[in-house]
Amino acid sequence: MLRVNKSPATPHYLSVEEALVRLNSLLPLAVRQAELDPPFRALHRAILRWLAIEGESPSFAALLVEAGVADGAAALEQLRAADLVVVNGGGRIVGAYPITLEITAHRVTLDGRTRYAMCAVDALAIGPMFNLGTRIESRCHTCAAPLSFAQDDQRIRPAHLLRDVHVGIAWQATGGCAAHSLCREMLFFCSASHAASWQAVSRERNSVLSLSQAIELAKRFFLPLLADRPGVA
Ligand SMILES: [Zn+2]
Repeated sequence: MLRVNKSPATPHYLSVEEALVRLNSLLPLAVRQAELDPPFRALHRAILRWLAIEGESPSFAALLVEAGVADGAAALEQLRAADLVVVNGGGRIVGAYPITLEITAHRVTLDGRTRYAMCAVDALAIGPMFNLGTRIESRCHTCAAPLSFAQDDQRIRPAHLLRDVHVGIAWQATGGCAAHSLCREMLFFCSASHAASWQAVSRERNSVLSLSQAIELAKRFFLPLLADRPGVA
C-alpha cells in the first residue's frame, strides 16, 4: 500500500553512547572540571548545589569560604573561561549547567522551587543530580503543544509520555558559551512523528533520542560533575 503522507512517522534514533561522545566533544564539562585545581572544582560543585537549592545568584563570598578558595576573581574567571559557569554583564553568576537563572523554555520545579534548565537534556539531569523528583514544563518544538510531566529518575508521570516525548539535538559548535548556542537547539517533542518531521529537515544535523535515552544521556553527562557524592562513584 502506498503511503500518501511522505513525512516520516518515526525518527532515526541516535545511540546514547554516540550522543555522549558527540556532546562531550563539543562541551567536555567533566573533563574541564577534572582539570581544575581541587578548590576550584569544589567551588564549581558548591555553585551547582547552590543554584539547585537556593535558585538565585549565590553569595559568592560564602561559596568561596566553603570551597577554600582565596582568589575569588581568578576562580570565577577560570570557571567562566571553561564555560562551567555563565556570568552576566555585571559579573554575577547566572547559571551552571544544567541550571540557569535566565528564563528558558524549560521550567523545572523541584521541592516547590522553580528553576530553569539550559536545554531539554539539562532539564532531565536536574532530578537525578540532586536526588529529587522534578516537574518539567516545556513545549513541543514542532507544534508548540505544552508538555508537563513529573520525573522521578527513570519514572515519568503520566507514564505514556515516556513513550511519546522525544528529545532532539541540533549539533553545532558552542561558540564559547553553549548556553546561548548548542543548548538553544536541544529540544522536546510531543511525539515520535513530530521529532521525525524535525529530523527530516537535516538528518546530519538533527539527532533524536527517546525520552528514556535522553534521561540516560543526561545522567551519564552530568552525574560525574558531582562525582564525590555518595553512590555516584
Ligand atoms: Zn508536537
